[in-house]
Amino acid sequence: MLIKSLYQQKTPVLSFEIFPPKPEYPLDTVFKTIEGIRDLNPDFISVTYGAGGSNRSRTIEIASRIKKTYGIETLAHLTCVGHSPEELDQIVNQMKDEGIENILALRGDPPRDRPEITFRPGNYRYAIELVKHLRRYSGFCVGAAAYAEGHIESKRWRDDWEHLRAKVEAGVDFLVTQLFFDNRIFYNFKENMLRMGVTAPVSAGIMPVLNPNRIKKMIYLSGASLPAKLLQLLDQYGDQPVEFEKFGIDYAVNQINELLENGVEGIHLYTMNRAQQTRIIVKNLNLVGRNK
Ligand code: FAD
Repeated sequence: MLIKSLYQQKTPVLSFEIFPPKPEYPLDTVFKTIEGIRDLNPDFISVTYGAGGSNRSRTIEIASRIKKTYGIETLAHLTCVGHSPEELDQIVNQMKDEGIENILALRGDPPRDRPEITFRPGNYRYAIELVKHLRRYSGFCVGAAAYAEGHIESKRWRDDWEHLRAKVEAGVDFLVTQLFFDNRIFYNFKENMLRMGVTAPVSAGIMPVLNPNRIKKMIYLSGASLPAKLLQLLDQYGDQPVEFEKFGIDYAVNQINELLENGVEGIHLYTMNRAQQTRIIVKNLNLVGRNK
């Protein structure tokens, strides 16, 4: 099923993001996670694509099995960094052969140890070029990344949103945001998008704060702002892992429930492959009346 049609059928669309285990770990570890969350009835599960194309075959294999074995719709991430257009064709054809119909078209970031592979002549520089490439194929639904606080490389939020508008106009069916912790940022983003004529449905990307170190890393990488309430949590419980996780889960539940009250079109939960915590969060959400 094409994910764009899910947004026409229900509010909110609920999705989970998982990542393939590193090559040295067995693939089965991720299927244990999926077994642990499948009965939460996600509308789709997305599978990330390794930086610079590492783990690429795992992304396709996992996405394909989510659909074929578990009967859950799947969204395969794909980054253009480090791939030539010809390689992208091979990957897209492989996805097609595996029955994958939904692709999240991303630029990606070069792996930290190989910054030189990013922009070889002929390779795409921005996700918009991958979107246009995918539009040459029929039958795919194409999603893209959005940044409620602007992408970290952008000097002004507005510049990033103008690029986002162009990306959507090039053929994006739906958007998934980078994590954010303050809902006001998301509402502001959504209002600006509508003012700019961007009406593609947007799923809010929510990452529960389960671990102080991980959250600091994510903030460094994404540039997300840290609201005072979360800073307080870090200060108060930063050295108490059990308490921290409990309050982090509460924070995510409250954040999502407030978004739901305000009519968010989709919730995309960054599960970090943690089934148990994902279950607690979803069981505490006010997800009633999801059919339109
Ligand atoms: P783009 O849309 O190309 O934007 C990148 C930057 O370029 C932005 O600052 C934008 O404003 C700017 N820009 C765009 N067009 C132009 C132009 N014409 N001229 C000048 N500047 C321009 N990474 C992975 O490696 N694997 C994943 O699986 C993955 N999944 C993700 C899922 C989500 C939901 C999100 C939000 C991010 C994900 N990422 C993933 C991270 C993503 O690859 C990085 O954030 C990357 O830096 C930007 O990717 P993009 O697709 O948003 O790029």
